Amino acid sequence: MTPKLELSGHTALVTGASRGIGAAIAVALAEAGAAVAVNYRQRAADADTVVAKIKDIGGRAIAVAADVSQTAAVAEMVNRTTSALGPIDILVNNAGIAIVRGVDDLTESDFDLTIAVNLKSAFLCTQAVLPAMRARKWGRIVNISSGAARGAGAIGVHYNASKAGMEGLTRGYAARLVKEGITVNAVAPSLIETDMMRGRSDLARNIPLGRLGQPSEVAQAVLMVIGNDYMTGQTIILNGGMAFI
Ligand code: NAP
Repeated sequence: MTPKLELSGHTALVTGASRGIGAAIAVALAEAGAAVAVNYRQRAADADTVVAKIKDIGGRAIAVAADVSQTAAVAEMVNRTTSALGPIDILVNNAGIAIVRGVDDLTESDFDLTIAVNLKSAFLCTQAVLPAMRARKWGRIVNISSGAARGAGAIGVHYNASKAGMEGLTRGYAARLVKEGITVNAVAPSLIETDMMRGRSDLARNIPLGRLGQPSEVAQAVLMVIGNDYMTGQTIILNGGMAFI
């Protein structure tokens, strides 16, 4: 039997972990023994609730506010995390926004904001944690993509572009970091029951499994990736049987 993933002695940063998928990933990492920085943008109370949940199970965690599309905020977040919990060797780039727009309604500012929050943030956070991972000769980076990286999706072309870019970033970093003990993979869910999908439960009719996915199911895939030394540059897809790509 495969031994249970053991992450004691590791420090994880999960962006956008105050709710939804990020919160489930943060708790799952803590259950595996990692100390976890719970990043959020605005909802401090929600982030504090995730931290309290981790402390209740005997884990170590802090909540750390930062808009991850901003270089200075990312640097401060990484410094605060490192001081409180130690050098970051697990990064989950999860923070994201989904501004629903048709082709004719999409504005330049919607496009720029989406690319900054969903894609540039992953670049900024990766660059900021790389020195610590390189020093340890071990690191795990998991980027939360989406089925929209390859399929039409339910949000818009700006979102498609941000997530396809994230998968390019994943493969580019994976190729360049593999010799340093750092793996970089993506997990691409579709239609997970979170605030992002609020009011969109009608979309369940498109899912052969007959229901939306759960944040804990995405967290399970993230932990699977983190536990594998040999896998890098890959995208794990979870979509209830909607597409096989
Ligand atoms: P969610 O419930 O809307 O939560 C979004 C999280 O991102 C919140 O913690 C939010 O913080 C944070 N955030 C947003 N902008 C940020 C910024 N600029 N800086 C830092 N944090 C920021 O979303 P979710 O459904 O869990 O989605 C998580 C990720 O999965 C996203 O990348 C999304 O694109 C991807 N995804 C979701 C689905 C789905 O069906 N739900 C499917 C495919 C992919 P605050 O709470 O402080 O606002």
